[in-house]
Amino acid sequence: MMIRFAIVPLLLALNFSMCKRGETVSQNSQSSGSPAAATAAPVAAASPKITKPVVDQTAQTIIFCYHRLVDKIRYPGTEITPAAFETQMKELKDRGITVISMQDLLAWKRGEKNIPPRCAVISFDDGWKSQYEVAWPIMKKFGYPFTMFIYTEGVAGGSLGGGQAITWEQLADMRDNGVDIEAHTATHQDLREGHTIMVANPGGKRTRTKLTGPQYEQWVQSEVVGSKELLEQRLGIKVNCFAVPFGNYNDHVKELARNAGYEAMFTVYGQPITFTSSLDSLGRYAIEANKPKVFEDALKMIGTSTGGAAAVAEVGAKDLATQPADGETVRTALPLIKANLSGIGQIEPGSVQMRVSGLGVVPASYDPKTGTVSYQVTQKLREKSCSVFVSVKSAGKKVEAHWTFGIEEGATGGTTSPAPTAKK
Ligand SMILES: [Zn+2]
Repeated sequence: MMIRFAIVPLLLALNFSMCKRGETVSQNSQSSGSPAAATAAPVAAASPKITKPVVDQTAQTIIFCYHRLVDKIRYPGTEITPAAFETQMKELKDRGITVISMQDLLAWKRGEKNIPPRCAVISFDDGWKSQYEVAWPIMKKFGYPFTMFIYTEGVAGGSLGGGQAITWEQLADMRDNGVDIEAHTATHQDLREGHTIMVANPGGKRTRTKLTGPQYEQWVQSEVVGSKELLEQRLGIKVNCFAVPFGNYNDHVKELARNAGYEAMFTVYGQPITFTSSLDSLGRYAIEANKPKVFEDALKMIGTSTGGAAAVAEVGAKDLATQPADGETVRTALPLIKANLSGIGQIEPGSVQMRVSGLGVVPASYDPKTGTVSYQVTQKLREKSCSVFVSVKSAGKKVEAHWTFGIEEGATGGTTSPAPTAKK
């Protein structure tokens, strides 16, 4: 606790210096002038007109979760080869995604520390020896920080710690070298009341059972709170993160975790983490040998999203090469409205929708080959400005983009824009 108090002012001081650097950047982009020039700028900073916040609230992070690293895949649901893992770590670097520590992510969420616009957090679950022996050297090579989510009975010597389990000595070594070690329960089971679990009976035999009432409460307490205390006592650390096994939990479990002093809870439902993402359900992308697309999709999400709530991912109009462009003024009241959705990723068929202010939902046409959605306005737009909303469903989530363009006063149909063409 004392150490924490000492560190916070230091972080704040760092923030202010970072903040100043940020302002210089945004002033530079301001001087670039016209919207067109701003579009051409490599990485747009947050809107220069808005007072720069202490932290960049538009930054986004994806959290990855890995299990075992093995040369020969036998359980593709939880394994990956070292080569594939290393390729992914390199890809993050090549794509300009900064790997940050979990604690930096949380400090950013608290508004205490800035993070780069596009980040990733790497975590390893369950405590396998290969995480120490294989993953760690690769992480060192890249200089990446990472987090270990440990279930305490699965550590070597515990009731569930087999030959491939990490040891307490290895964990201590990682701790000494700055690796973040966090909790993943005691016995790695479904934490909801009345669900089937395995319990150890006197004599060591494990049997299937369903716990309810006080018996359940006692058990879930040892899973959520007991495991945290054990890690803290065995390793002399502070544990503030909790990864829920299989992502199975409910409000009661959340409350227990909050009361136990966990600051953040993690599931395995991958999603980009934004400044407003709820701390009690931060989704991680579980990367497995049999689903290589998950990694690619996660990168795409962070590549095109620009904040917004977790349920609806917002995409910047600039990323969609919209026509008319955001902020542009057109000389026709009958413009052709277009956007390229190919950067969003896999789009569910029939989910593309376009809304135009003053018109509502319009019968836009979507070409899956080019990823282009377009609508030729057929009745003159009467307002001075027009807002367009395009929404699609991708990987089960709603993705939305909106932009606004102006219409020159006295504009008529089709003076400078391409002549209206027949709809496809
Ligand atoms: Zn696990």
